Amino acid sequence: MPKTIVVALGGNAILQPGQRGTAAEQYENIAVTARQIARMVADGHRVVVTHGNGPQVGNILIQQEEGSAAVPPMPLDVCGAMSQGFIGYYLQQCLGRELVTLGLDVPVATIVTQVVVDVGDAAFQNPTKPVGPFYSEERARELVAAKGWRMKEDAGRGWRRVVPSPDPRGIVEAPVIRSVVASGAVVIASGGGGVPVAVGEGGHLLGVEAVIDKDLAAERLACEVGADVLIILTDVEKAAVNYRQPGETWLGELTLEQARAYQAQGHFQAGSMGPKVEAALRFVEGGGELAVITSLSRAMAALAGETGTRIRGAAAAGAAGWEAPVGEQGYRAARGR
Ligand code: ADP
Ligand code: MG
Repeated sequence: MPKTIVVALGGNAILQPGQRGTAAEQYENIAVTARQIARMVADGHRVVVTHGNGPQVGNILIQQEEGSAAVPPMPLDVCGAMSQGFIGYYLQQCLGRELVTLGLDVPVATIVTQVVVDVGDAAFQNPTKPVGPFYSEERARELVAAKGWRMKEDAGRGWRRVVPSPDPRGIVEAPVIRSVVASGAVVIASGGGGVPVAVGEGGHLLGVEAVIDKDLAAERLACEVGADVLIILTDVEKAAVNYRQPGETWLGELTLEQARAYQAQGHFQAGSMGPKVEAALRFVEGGGELAVITSLSRAMAALAGETGTRIRGAAAAGAAGWEAPVGEQGYRAARGR
């Protein structure tokens, strides 16, 4: 049965460890990623893609700093929007090409996405997320004075700006995303966790100097588009308990209660696996059918129930076997879905 699937792409879907981030490198990685996503579309699913942007927005911030003598630097929210456009454009090209190869006439569109945060969020009192270039102490002091930035010394490597990472509250463009998805297009949205905005006087939206976790934003997106499945694709096939420690155990099917218990025991690291598990839990607690955490290359197998860390919600109880047309066996080019 066709599903609406939100696919959250991790950093490795766009840039591999050790790469500098040339256009060619990123295009090639995204081409590989697009092949996996196209297979979901070919299986008849409605697909919404979201993605991280850490290295990309980092490079854009370096360009702002290095170019600041020649052209005015843009603020963080604008840099985030730039990264959404750039990555979305590459995904449109690569996914478009894959879909044509499969004989599918499915449009792909990127929507610059704003995500509402609450200015009262405790995260604003304690900025934790390092962004952008490393600075000398002198330059760091200048930036603190000129822009009011918060700067932290980073393990002897220099000074770095830190920004808050507030919880995402709502996806501003959700209604338009829903209608574009309903039209049959593949939508790319909420890249980099979305551009954080606060609701100001008279309901106007104002960009905020912060970074939203992309997995938590993916959950909001999945909820607001009414997705059946949230699949978080990263560089490990499953989440583990006792990760990289004696007794390491990779997790397959989990109940909500089991996952919450492991989370409470501190098995999932903050800033990496932690937000993925939290996003998965929020999704199924909010009525989602299935949340999956797996690696990019195992996406289809995980949807088919063959691997990945999978958490099912109550909605999935009566829907056993829906995986049948999906997965390695059921892979097909579904013309005129
Ligand atoms: P992404 O770019 O996909 O968000 P992250 O680096 O943020 O990637 O998160 C994936 C990483 O989480 C893995 O590479 C792994 O090192 C780390 N990790 C932390 N805790 C766990 C755990 N309990 N099980 C599996 N991986 C974990
Ligand atoms: Mg991450």
